[in-house]
Formats: sequence, C-alpha cells, structure tokens
Amino acid sequence: MKKERADDGVFHISAERKDLLQQLASDEGTPIFVIDHEKIRQNYQEFRSYMPTIQVYYAVKANSNPAIVKTLFDMGCSFDVASLPEFMIVHEYIRDMPDEERLDWIWDKIIYANTIKPIETLQVLDQYKPLVTFDNREELRKIQQHAPNAGLVLRLRVPNTGSMVELSSKFGADPGEAVDLIAEAFERDLVVEGLSFHVGSQCNNFDNYIQALQLSANIISEAETRLDRKIRILDIGGGFPVRYHPRVKSLKTLAKKLNTEIKRLFPPDMQILAEPGRFLVANACTLVSKVIGKAFRDGKPSYYINDGVYHTYSGQVFDHNTYPVLAFSEGEPQISAVFGPTCDSFDTITLSALLPDLAIGDLVYSENIGAYSIASSTYFNGFPPAKVVHINR
Ligand SMILES: *Cc1c(COP(=O)(O)O)cnc(C)c1O
Repeated sequence: MKKERADDGVFHISAERKDLLQQLASDEGTPIFVIDHEKIRQNYQEFRSYMPTIQVYYAVKANSNPAIVKTLFDMGCSFDVASLPEFMIVHEYIRDMPDEERLDWIWDKIIYANTIKPIETLQVLDQYKPLVTFDNREELRKIQQHAPNAGLVLRLRVPNTGSMVELSSKFGADPGEAVDLIAEAFERDLVVEGLSFHVGSQCNNFDNYIQALQLSANIISEAETRLDRKIRILDIGGGFPVRYHPRVKSLKTLAKKLNTEIKRLFPPDMQILAEPGRFLVANACTLVSKVIGKAFRDGKPSYYINDGVYHTYSGQVFDHNTYPVLAFSEGEPQISAVFGPTCDSFDTITLSALLPDLAIGDLVYSENIGAYSIASSTYFNGFPPAKVVHINR
C-alpha cells in the first residue's frame, strides 16, 4: 500500500473520493468538472468561524455555476457580482420574494464590485438599488445619470505586492484623491456608503491587507471630518489564499491579523465586508480527463488529454496558476509532458508531470481547480467546456 502523504495543509482528495471520481467519469464520460458542494459549505463555515464579524460576499466570477451560488445562498452567504448576468444568476433565487423584501435583500446581500459599468447595465441596476463600486469621476457622472438610487462604495488603489494576480494597475482610486471623489459624489446627491479595496488575488503577503486597512482608516477619518458624513462600510475585498502548495500561509493566520487590525482601527459599528472568491471554491472542484493520445517526444513520454489550457486549465494562463496532472494508477513515475486536445502548441499543460506509464483511455485528474478555471473555458477548436457534475453530500 502507498504511504499516506504527510499533512502539509494542502487539500488532497481521499482514496474513497478517487474511486467515486472514476465511477463518475465512466458514467458521464470525460472531461468532467466535479463540484463537491459539501466542501464549499465547509469552506464558507471555516471563513465565518475565523472572522465571525465579517459579512461574506462570494465573488461569483471565480466560478459562476448557478448550483454553487445556490449552495452558498442556502448558507446565508452574500454575493459580489461583476456584471449584469452575474447579478441575474443571484437574482434568480430571490425572484419570487415580495418586492420590498427583495430590494432589502439586494441592498444587504449584493455588491456590484466592478468599478466600470456599461450605461445599459446601470439603467437596469437602478431599479434594484444595489451597492456599486466606483473609482473615478466619469463613473460618478454615469452613476448620477443612470443609477442615482444605487449606494456607492469607493474602491481604493492599494499595494498588491506578492499577490498571484495583480489588480492595482487597472482598479482603484489613488488614496490622495479619495476624499475629493467622496466629496464630489455627495455634491452630486449620491450617497457614499463605504470604501473598498482588493489586495490582489491569492495574496500571500499579508502586509498588503495591513497597509490597506491603515490607508482606509485614514481616508475614512479624513472624509468624516471634512464632509461631516458617516462612512459605515469597509469592504476588504478578496485575495484570501488557497493552499495550492505548502508555502501558502493559512487563512487562520491571516484572520488573526485582520481581526486585530480591524478592531484597532475601526469603531465597533463599522460594517466589514469581504469578497472571497477563490477561497470558497478552489479546493471543492476536481477535473477528470482522459488520455486520448500518446507519443514519445523530446526524450519523454507525452500524453494528449481531452482538456487543456483553452478549457479547464485556462487558469494556467489567466490566473497564473498551475495544476499538477495526477494519475489514478500507480507505477514508476517518469517525467512526462501533458498536452491539451487542440491544434495549438500553446495548449501545453506541463512539460514536467511525474506520471506512471499511461495508456490511451486512462484517466487523469487535477485537484484544487475550482476557481478561475472552467469560468474562463472557451469552445476553441470546437471542444466545449468540461461537463459539470455535482456531488452534494
Ligand atoms: C476577483 C475579485 C474578488 C475575488 O477575489 P479572490 O482573490 O478570488 O478572493 C473580490 N472582489 C473583487 C472586486 C474582485 O474583482
């Protein structure tokens, strides 16, 4: 029997679960993208348990599968949406509420956290009166004209040093102009409810959060003094790291720092929001695909599988992440190349997987692949995205 891997904090699927995945692949065909809803519930509860005073808004863009939204909805989660279609995925579950209750729910539980919104979207959003973020003057003018009933949250530009995905080059108002922007919003008869920031996705440099909190505290206090208006929301964004490998620090460590700093810097009645995306879904999903071709190239076994970087492995491009390709079978590991199914040599998943000798038809899998993966899958070469399969127990 193979030795159990040491517990390095990285999530690995169990032997029992591997059997189930192979069964599902034989029932459903491949590639399949398997979502474990119980794991999502556990992740949500873990986040809540470390930071009980923070309201959790799932960033739908990490994985917008409606069944994921439903699972989190049933847990009482709130939502960060980045587009009108994402807003509508969430809205589907509250459609039948009486109007007033529905609008209250939206106000309390949805934030439209894309600072740039098409005018057509603002016009539709206005009837729902949600919280929306902004970070520039042009956007303020648009909101005043097309969604004056929305509540505003100013997104700040904060350091993203050491995060896997950098966001500060595209989003966030410079701290030096923040109070002026808040003032201008009030002059336009809009209401600024809060501040937000994003330290960059998969943030393993916790100082980013500490600096952003300090910056926010300074701006809130300056705005409240200068404008005599109360800022009651602080949205600390996403970035909460997933343990893809043992070097990633735990959420518990981060939570301790955040709780201490928040308590030190803000009054107890400040509402603190967070927008975890990756953290809630990454380790809840596994991809199972199949070897469809095999060759010996550049001195090593080379496998062609039926999913690749234009599909579920797209996170290797857009998310700057890597997903080890693993075999269900055992055997002497050899350094191997793994390619996707399309006619582009860019569709290379890895040139250095450690895999036993595999045959055409053998299954392989990648774990911790729930975030920013199937969400950016294409139909390139006519291959559709992987079929989604749910495990709900
Ligand atoms: C993408 C995004 C998130 C989610 O980030 P994660 O790093 O996946 O937690 C949260 N808020 C905003 C505004 C985003 O753009």
